[in-house]
Amino acid sequence: MSDSIKYTLDEQDIPKSWYNIVADLPSPPPPVLHPGTTQPIGPDDLAPIFPMAVIEQEVSQEREIEIPEPVRDVYRQWRPTPLYRARRLEQALDTPARIYYKYEGVSPAGSHKPNTAIPQAFYNKQEGIKRIITETGAGQWGSALAIAGAFFGIDVEVFMVRVSFDQKPYRRTFMQSFGAQCIASPSDLTASGRAILEEHPDSTGSLGIAISEAVERAVQRDDSKYALGSVLNHVLLHQTVIGQEARRQFDLADDYPDVVVGCTGGGSNFAGVAFPFLGERLRGGPATEFVAVEPAACPTLTKGKYAYDFGDTAHLTPLVKMHTLGSTYVPPGFHAGGLRYHGMAPLLSHITEQEYIKPRAYQQLTCFEAGLQFAQAEGILPAPEANHAVKGAIDEALKCKEEGVSRCILFNLCGHGHFDMQAYRDYMDGKLTDQVYEESEIAMALAGLPSVA
Ligand SMILES: *Cc1c(COP(=O)(O)O)cnc(C)c1O
Repeated sequence: MSDSIKYTLDEQDIPKSWYNIVADLPSPPPPVLHPGTTQPIGPDDLAPIFPMAVIEQEVSQEREIEIPEPVRDVYRQWRPTPLYRARRLEQALDTPARIYYKYEGVSPAGSHKPNTAIPQAFYNKQEGIKRIITETGAGQWGSALAIAGAFFGIDVEVFMVRVSFDQKPYRRTFMQSFGAQCIASPSDLTASGRAILEEHPDSTGSLGIAISEAVERAVQRDDSKYALGSVLNHVLLHQTVIGQEARRQFDLADDYPDVVVGCTGGGSNFAGVAFPFLGERLRGGPATEFVAVEPAACPTLTKGKYAYDFGDTAHLTPLVKMHTLGSTYVPPGFHAGGLRYHGMAPLLSHITEQEYIKPRAYQQLTCFEAGLQFAQAEGILPAPEANHAVKGAIDEALKCKEEGVSRCILFNLCGHGHFDMQAYRDYMDGKLTDQVYEESEIAMALAGLPSVA
């Protein structure tokens, strides 16, 4: 049996800039609109929510955006992350495919989220902000921002989706360990939370609701800003350190991916691993394929409508054009909490419309099965979200076996599952079921899409 291989880089190989794919796209993504006027918004409209440096990145057309030295200094704690050739998994699958994975679970939060939490906290600090307010689904983003806040001396307040708050009590303890406050959402702290509770006292919450609560709190105080852990251009940008490092590691491996696979909740870890390779393709490089895997119970890219919609349930955010299930849609409480978002990153939606990305949806049971098969071969237990990418990669490898061809597969292992033992417990006890979304509920939510001329 040949062992799996690890490709490592030196600290000086941490990228010096983030890669902005907008510079290489044949057409720019549609503008963000003001919900009142439905006219394109300007930087001033976003100023109450985000620091100016972040807003500039959100609208930037520059290909390379320099990573500030203090951010690289913190990245050094866990970056560059390893790239592995999963030889033992290949053997278990008896496939001619070459399977590689980039492992983001080595970060202090256990996921890719600190890649953007660190720069966001840094820019807020630079602009004198005292408190950052955010939401979290599975708890990964709240954990990452809690650590970033502790590093840069900023208070962090996290609205955590109720179903995850109940499923993962240790996540709250983790965030509190770094001094962050954690509130179950919907809460009675905000008007948007109270409105939901009045109608649905037992609401399991959703990312859309938690975003409303966090934005509402953030705009109330001058010394507070809001931070988002996915979806927006600047978040996708920060995550490109993943793919840039992987690109160099493939040089060490003397290989190049034929297909790149990632899971998609809001789209940031997928964009992070995929965009540097897609950029090469757009500039005339190899015709790599890109597979975005989402949960069948929240099928944004495969079943959603590409339309202007709000990012949150209470309609406090600007309008963005994205694949959406409707901002009032509350996905069922399945166990990959980080993938329970009604929309998709506008930039990723735009690129998917141009047919560079193949979206695919899987049910949760088959993903857990794939995750355990991966764990038994490679020794890392993936986060339930990451299991979607694992399943996507395994299916690609099995297709190679069927066709008798050896293709090179890269997937992003975006986080470990050490906080997700309850999900694995439920899976092993046979308590986990495949959940279907309610067609009628999505139809209702889509009927409520804002009209944009
Ligand atoms: C947050 C999270 C996701 C989903 O967010 P993306 O922006 O789609 O990456 C997926 N996996 C893990 C481990 C996460 O923490």
